[in-house]
Amino acid sequence: MSTNIPKKLAGKVAVVTGASKGIGAAIAKHLAAEGASVVVNYASSKSGADKVVAEITNAGGKAVAVQGDVSKKVDIDRLFAETKRAFGQLDVLVNNAGIYEFAPLEQITEEHFHKQFNLNVLGLLLTTQEAVKQCPATSSIINISSVVGVSPAAGGVVYSATKAAVDAVTKSLAKELGARKIRVNSINPGMVVTEGLHTIGFAESDFSKLVESQTPLGRLGQPQDIATVATFLASADSAWITGETFLVSGGYR
Ligand code: NAP
Repeated sequence: MSTNIPKKLAGKVAVVTGASKGIGAAIAKHLAAEGASVVVNYASSKSGADKVVAEITNAGGKAVAVQGDVSKKVDIDRLFAETKRAFGQLDVLVNNAGIYEFAPLEQITEEHFHKQFNLNVLGLLLTTQEAVKQCPATSSIINISSVVGVSPAAGGVVYSATKAAVDAVTKSLAKELGARKIRVNSINPGMVVTEGLHTIGFAESDFSKLVESQTPLGRLGQPQDIATVATFLASADSAWITGETFLVSGGYR
C-alpha cells in the first residue's frame, strides 16, 4: 500500500506575519509541513524567526525570515518584494501579527488606541492590499482575530474593537474579492498560551484560570490548536468557504 499522500500545500507560497513566536510560528511550521514555502515575518525577534526557519528547513521544508513592521507601508512593500524575490509567487497570506493591551476606559490614551489599530487593523488591510496585487496566485487570506471580536472583554475595549473590525474586514473583503477567487476568513482564538500571553502577565493569572474554568473543553489553547485550522483554511479542503469567522476556543465564548 502506498503511503505517498500528497501534501495539501505542495507548490504553494505563504506569508505569515508575526511568525517569530506564538501562534504565527506554529502556523508557519504547520503550513511548511504541508508543503508550502513560507515567509516568516518578524518585527524585532530575528533569533526567533531564524529558529522557526531552521526548524522548517531541518524538516525538509522551505522558508525564509523577512524583517518588517507590518504597521508600516514601507516595510510591507519590502516584505512582499522579498517574498517575490525568494519564491516568485504568493498563494496564502496569514495576517497574524497583532498586539493586545488591556486598559480600563479611564486609562485609554491616543497612543494606546493608535498602536493597536495601526497594527491590528490598518496593517492587516495594507498587507492584504499588497498581497492581492500578486494575484491570481493568492488564493486564501486568513486573518487572526480573537474571541473578543465577538464577545468583547471588560477592560479591553480597544483591543476588542480592533478584532471586531478585523471580522468586518474579513466579511467585506470576502464579498469584494470573491469574484477573483480569493477567499478571506478569520480565526477567532480563545486564550492561547504564547510568549505574548506571558508578557502581559495573563498566562498564570486568576483571569486565565477563570477562562479555563469557563471553557467547555477544560483547557487553554496551544498554538497548534490554531495552526491546524489555519492549514485547513489555506488548503483546497476549504475551497468553498469564504467570509467566515471561526471561533477556535474550546467552546469558550
Ligand atoms: P505573541 O506571542 O506576542 O507574538 C506576536 C508576534 O507578532 C511576534 O512574532 C512579533 O514579532 C510579531 N509582531 C508584533 N508586532 C509586529 C509588527 N508591528 N510587525 C510584524 N510583526 C509583529 O502573540 P500571540 O499571542 O501569538 O498572538 C498572535 C495573534 O493572535 C495576534 O493577532 C493576537 O491578537 C491573536 N490572538 C492571540 C490570543 C492569545 O491568547 N495568545 C488570543 C486571541 C487572538 P517580534 O517578536 O519580532 O516582535
